Amino acid sequence: MSEKKIPYKIYLDENEMPKDWYNVRADMKNKPAPLLNPATLQPMTAEELGQVFCEELVKQELDDENRYIEIPEKIRNFYKMYRPSPLVRAYCLEEKLQTPAKIYYKFEGNNTSGSHKLNSAIAQAYYAKEQGLKGVTTETGAGQWGTALAMACAYLDLDCKVYMVKCSYEQKPFRREVMRTYGAQVTPSPSETTKVGQKILAEHPGTSGSLGCAISEAVEVATHTEGYRYVLGSVLNQVLLHQSVIGVETKIAMDKYGIKPDIIIGCAGGGSNLGGLISPFMGEKLRGEADYQFIAVEPASCPSFTRGKFAYDFCDTGMVCPLAKMYTLGSGFIPSPSHAGGLRYHGMSSVLSQLYHDGYMEARAVAQTAVFEAAEQFARVEGILPAPESSHAIKVAIDEALKCKETGEEKTILFGLTGTGYFDMYAYEAFHDGKMEDYIPTDEELKAGFDGIPKFPGNME
Ligand SMILES: *Cc1c(COP(=O)(O)O)cnc(C)c1O
Repeated sequence: MSEKKIPYKIYLDENEMPKDWYNVRADMKNKPAPLLNPATLQPMTAEELGQVFCEELVKQELDDENRYIEIPEKIRNFYKMYRPSPLVRAYCLEEKLQTPAKIYYKFEGNNTSGSHKLNSAIAQAYYAKEQGLKGVTTETGAGQWGTALAMACAYLDLDCKVYMVKCSYEQKPFRREVMRTYGAQVTPSPSETTKVGQKILAEHPGTSGSLGCAISEAVEVATHTEGYRYVLGSVLNQVLLHQSVIGVETKIAMDKYGIKPDIIIGCAGGGSNLGGLISPFMGEKLRGEADYQFIAVEPASCPSFTRGKFAYDFCDTGMVCPLAKMYTLGSGFIPSPSHAGGLRYHGMSSVLSQLYHDGYMEARAVAQTAVFEAAEQFARVEGILPAPESSHAIKVAIDEALKCKETGEEKTILFGLTGTGYFDMYAYEAFHDGKMEDYIPTDEELKAGFDGIPKFPGNME
């Protein structure tokens, strides 16, 4: 077999872009556990979910059977503004590391929002518009998801209300202004605009907010305002489905050049980019057609997979959302400050949790100073300034490439480079000034989080 010369960047033609999302649940023998209604402990019905989410998205959320779901033309047209994203052969990094490994990364940072989140934002906004809704609400922490959603809503002329964790609202004014440029209404959370916000402010005056609190506010507004629904940027089955565009594109590009990855690596916050990247490859593994090693990378400060429990838990701190079965640190777990805001979530996608539980995937936790060392090394040779979240994947890709250097193996390593880090320069500054610390929770701290996981027969035994 003659190996084709691999270009530095593989770009698909527009007509080669995926027309369908791939639903990995269709190929899973053990399906992810359903969301439960916390009051009845019964699976959430489509009707119950429809009070919070759009109809079509509820269908996608509950669909464990259909392998392919067509990407509507309007979404495919939007994708063309920033997709296909390049699959890059990291020749410069390989050279620098002097490794026999072949390293590839799929780069999702080539859009103004700066991350892969736009892939699901446009889909969720589209279905809201199709349903004739006026607008959507959401929360944002560091701001990547809010920015992506603001862009998608602007394109479709849909109203967008974003509850932004107050400390980020104050510390990250640039992201806030990008959202406002795209027409979103951005409110620092907790706020006086909701009952739950008022209650939290009364109990904790001066609080700087949390993601869990912002979710509770966004859900309250969505369920109490005519013509609005709530949207979420990660964790949910539907979000992994939309993000499968990353993996399907990667697979098409690799197949074209006869490349077969041995190891596939992605950072994991709620699991959407990792789930999206690995989906078609995981499908092959589940169907027994091929084998790959999958590695999820999480921060040592928020180690859901590596130190969490596999149990039903609340998705939010306010305990208003359904229960999801996942690897979790407990919805009350408050991760110590970490600069990878997008990875500071206590739980993990139910799909990935089930796959990990069944042994189809591995996970590693890495400390943030080591992550920034990898980020800097990468930036200096490959040019792209990576997001701290994405750099978790870079760190493990480099580790694996260095192992190959020792053993002489020529493995092919693929990782997801989810975004750029231009809005994270305070983190880079802390790293350069030697002021960055590695927070690793103690077993006692984790136990406090586990104690908050709901107890009922069959859970947490
Ligand atoms: C949000 C975010 C992540 C983590 O989210 P997942 O749902 O786990 O993919 C990773 N990288 C970047 C750049 C992000 O913005």
